[in-house]
Amino acid sequence: MLNNCPNRNKKKKFVTTLLNWEKKFGRDFSWRQNRSPYNVFITEFLLKRTTSTAAQKFYIQFLDRYPTLFEIKRSNIHDLEQFLQPIGLQKQRSRGIKEAAEFIIKNYGGELPNTFDELIKIPHVGNYSAACILSFGMGIPAPAIDSNGVRVISNVFKNQLDPSISIKTILQFSWDLISPRDHTLFNYGLIDLGALLCSYRGCSKEKCPMRIICDTYQTQKKQKNES
Ligand code: SF4
Repeated sequence: MLNNCPNRNKKKKFVTTLLNWEKKFGRDFSWRQNRSPYNVFITEFLLKRTTSTAAQKFYIQFLDRYPTLFEIKRSNIHDLEQFLQPIGLQKQRSRGIKEAAEFIIKNYGGELPNTFDELIKIPHVGNYSAACILSFGMGIPAPAIDSNGVRVISNVFKNQLDPSISIKTILQFSWDLISPRDHTLFNYGLIDLGALLCSYRGCSKEKCPMRIICDTYQTQKKQKNES
């Protein structure tokens, strides 16, 4: 749990900085332009364990061939598997997409449901994908925080978060930071900042707009000055 409550000004500064940065430097993917719930649902399947560059090349092709869940349901699993070959993991991906499509058609008539609890009951749709479908596809505020976002929050609020904190707690914590009006931009901002600057390779230091309020950056800077 939280050691102490991060102060309101810091949280506000975090949100404002993230939104401003995303407006200027956010990445432009084709799946960010036409965001129907179905398109977001497909995007998340294509992005699983695949780079965004590979998924980007394949995304439009997939939507052309399978424009709705019904074409997926009617498809032959071997054809689907072969079609998915260019982005890899075709066996798991084809089985997952087909099972999920069949479930949605059977239980919701082919329309993706609009609550988190219903979405996570769909086979192969986890917390992150469910939040993406809500926030990006339906405009409903939800914390679509992937591992990149978890890393950014953990670094910026390091002194306020217990070291043994779980991802679930970080997700709960992030609810408190989401701007109801700008939740889509906020979520894209966390994904992009975590991918481009606060990556698993380490801190981008002077390039990062969060450095003034980032506990990790400030601690490293202090240690460097003292050594
Ligand atoms: S200052 Fe460094 S550690 Fe902090 S959020 Fe930015 S890139 Fe991550």
